[in-house]
Amino acid sequence: MKRNHFNPFRNLICGVDQKIPVGEFNIQHINFDNAATTPPFKCVLEDILDFTPWYSSIHRGIGYKSKYSSIVYENSRKVIASFIGANLKEHNIIYVKNTTEAINKLSFRLCDMHKNCTVLSSSMEHHSNDLPWRDKFNVDYISLNDMGMLSIEDLEHKLISYDGHVKLVTITGASNTTGYMNPIHEIARLVHSYDAKLLVDCAQLVPHEKLNMKSLSNDEHIDFVVFSSHKMYAPFGIGVLVGPKEVFCCGHPDYKGGGTVQLVTDDYALWDIPPNKDEAGTPNIMGVVALVSAIEMLQGIGMNQVSKFERNLLNYSMEKLLKIPEIKIYSSLDTSVPRVSIIPFNIEGIHHSITARILGEEWGISVRSGCFCAQPYMQKILNISPTEIYSHLKQNQIPPYGVVRLSFGIYNTFSEIDFLVKVLEYIISHKD
Ligand code: PLP
Repeated sequence: MKRNHFNPFRNLICGVDQKIPVGEFNIQHINFDNAATTPPFKCVLEDILDFTPWYSSIHRGIGYKSKYSSIVYENSRKVIASFIGANLKEHNIIYVKNTTEAINKLSFRLCDMHKNCTVLSSSMEHHSNDLPWRDKFNVDYISLNDMGMLSIEDLEHKLISYDGHVKLVTITGASNTTGYMNPIHEIARLVHSYDAKLLVDCAQLVPHEKLNMKSLSNDEHIDFVVFSSHKMYAPFGIGVLVGPKEVFCCGHPDYKGGGTVQLVTDDYALWDIPPNKDEAGTPNIMGVVALVSAIEMLQGIGMNQVSKFERNLLNYSMEKLLKIPEIKIYSSLDTSVPRVSIIPFNIEGIHHSITARILGEEWGISVRSGCFCAQPYMQKILNISPTEIYSHLKQNQIPPYGVVRLSFGIYNTFSEIDFLVKVLEYIISHKD
């Protein structure tokens, strides 16, 4: 099984040709788990190293390094804005830890502003874009069609039936389970026509597709965007929340402390203006440097190039996997359906966790298996009934359903896919 690693982007990434111990041998690692976390670009590590002698705590220091670090930190917001088509005159760009923290932060802010209103989420969300809304709002879920795609008809039906009480619709830009991309600008138009705002969870979208928050026509703009550094070739620890300034300028911050205030007396605090108000404590300046570096590299490659290359990887692997009768794919087989390069599948008669374990432990191929923090979505995709779930829970068991997930990055190769397919065929031929 020969492996050819040629790919024009491969050389840009850290550690892709690393050998890992498997049994008695060291073999080449293959990573098809990019939806969880991507390895970093080499330039990201170089930029972190270059910045290391210069970093200092920002904003309040008057020394050279503090001033320099403050400029680097503040200028980074321009790079984020250009990457997602935001506008710093209208939007606040707030740094947090990750997408999960960004959504929680927004849920607290909106909860302060809108009492007793409804949030429409969907049945295809990551738990991070579902659970934060549940304890603060009346939440309803936009239903899915038979292929597990968002039903725009149901969204409109719900917007009508809640009669002006929906203040926010929150959906994923691309599913971390099926890869399906939602038509976010079409949805924005619909949502705005009912006077609601739209949050798009872009954790799986921005590393793979060009995003334009503003869009060409005004009523198709995206109101709120969130994403994480570690899924876009930068290390962990930085997330981004973007939204209209008027939403963040009022009210109290969720986290209070240093950096959030202009004046404090024994019984009074005058909050700073956003984004400072919403970035409590000393921020992750290195994380911001890393994120900017990764974004500039993605922009240098061109997001159209990224999505074109990954679509080829996706189509190639779908074509190969569809030739294996024992493999069942749990997303649309129509390759023209808009999606990022994710394939959920199972081998007939082999539990998803066993397939993932054999691939990882015997062949050095990293994939993920289970429900990918999207349990309600997985229950719908696999037709798992509530009765089945509760009968497991009664016996103190977590239900064992799930699938195997392949998710590609720009550095994966066709020959890695060939190798995976050969290994899957081998596993199938030895399964009895
Ligand atoms: N939303 C989606 C679609 C995701 O795939 C993930 C992570 O997998 C998240 C949100 C949460 O991201 P993080 O763990 O970086 O907060």
